[in-house]
Amino acid sequence: LGSSLRDSLGQLSGQSRVTEEDVEDIVKEIQRSLLQADVEVSLVMDLSDSIKERALEEESPAGTSARDHVLSIVYEEMVDLVGDSTEIPLENQTILLAGLQGSGKTTTSAKMAWWFAKKGLRPAIVQTDTFRPGAYDQAKEMASRAEVDFYGDPDEEDPVEIARKGLEETDEADVHIVDTAGRHALEDDLIAEIEEIERAVEPDRNLLVLDAAIGQGAKDQARQFDDSIGIDGVAITKLDGTAKGGGALTAVNETDSSIAFLGTGEEVRDIERFEPSGFISRLLGMGDLKQLTERVERAMEETQQEEEDWDPEDMLKGEFTLKDMRRQMQAMNNMGPLDQVMDMIPGMGGGLMDELPDDAMDVTQDRMRDFEVVMDSMTELELENPRAIGASQVERIARGSGKDEERVRELLEQHKMMSQTLKQFQGMGQGNMERMMKKMGGGG
Ligand code: GDP
Ligand code: MG
Repeated sequence: LGSSLRDSLGQLSGQSRVTEEDVEDIVKEIQRSLLQADVEVSLVMDLSDSIKERALEEESPAGTSARDHVLSIVYEEMVDLVGDSTEIPLENQTILLAGLQGSGKTTTSAKMAWWFAKKGLRPAIVQTDTFRPGAYDQAKEMASRAEVDFYGDPDEEDPVEIARKGLEETDEADVHIVDTAGRHALEDDLIAEIEEIERAVEPDRNLLVLDAAIGQGAKDQARQFDDSIGIDGVAITKLDGTAKGGGALTAVNETDSSIAFLGTGEEVRDIERFEPSGFISRLLGMGDLKQLTERVERAMEETQQEEEDWDPEDMLKGEFTLKDMRRQMQAMNNMGPLDQVMDMIPGMGGGLMDELPDDAMDVTQDRMRDFEVVMDSMTELELENPRAIGASQVERIARGSGKDEERVRELLEQHKMMSQTLKQFQGMGQGNMERMMKKMGGGG
């Protein structure tokens, strides 16, 4: 599905106007991806409508392909829907976890505690599940793995009493995470119990813990917990499985909240702060940054012909030489055109690349081969400092490579264009660049 979406987008590539048929095609693909990811049907329909409307109404900005235009609309609409990550201030607070049995509350409480500890706070877990046999042992074990304070009482039957006492006993902690019992289904006694705990601990925020595979059931759960205690954020667990967590979209939409954390495994370290671009890429079945980075690295390794260590990031810092350009071209051979690669980086396709001339990164295969031959006839000095190449050198290089002087000049022209393009990235400044990289990397 991901690849068929990419195909549809690919077909639009290069066009500057989008036809109704194009939009229909792409919207259908997106619908299929979203439904498969368990996004609720009515939500998918609403999304489709706004995407269609905007794609046909708005003209693509100059220099933007129809493909980029539609994709950026899809992306914007989805970011709009999921919003930013739930705000989790690094300060004293009490967080209450709600959710059905097996959704991952106990695991998430330990993960979150670990996360807070990493941030330099002192978290404590208060375990109030008196319903499930073994709940106390499991929570205690996980808390010890996270190396955080823990309170529970296997002999006490009243969860409200445990909650109250737990807060007192762990008052040295900055952050209290109150884990609650679940049930197999939404039942009145579960709701009554969590309401009582809520009144007793007066949490600063209530998080709903949802299994990524929840699917269409997310709506009822979100509704009920929101009505009873109010939901301020959602944690989605088990994203390491095949489920893509589309139910979370339903939940945040239903509760007017946002996603806080993602659970990606059974260990306490398997937690990430929610970051919209990666999550959306995953829902749509587009490559995520991790995959992309790995691909870039592999391609770079394959084309690494010289012994010297070469860091792709140098391109963004120092002078862009012909050697860099040669490596770039070789990498493109293994990877596809740079602008498409850029498009796959969440957050880059929509904004940054749009401001660049369409052909800034465009080097056709034939020209690329010629360019390589031409570069082979250059001296080290010329490769390092192409600006110093004058008319007589152009003549010599052309003769040596068996290519036209025109080709040599084209190469120098192309280099200049790419160099200017990269200057724009450099213009973002090191701080911005780092922030962007961090943002693209997700996590926290
Ligand atoms: P609770 O009943 O809501 O407290 O759920 P638990 O925390 O006990 O989790 C239920 C099961 O799901 C356990 O076997 C966990 O190990 C597992 N689990 C929880 N979160 C994740 C996750 O992010 N990934 C995977 N693979 N398993 C998880
Ligand atoms: Mg539990």
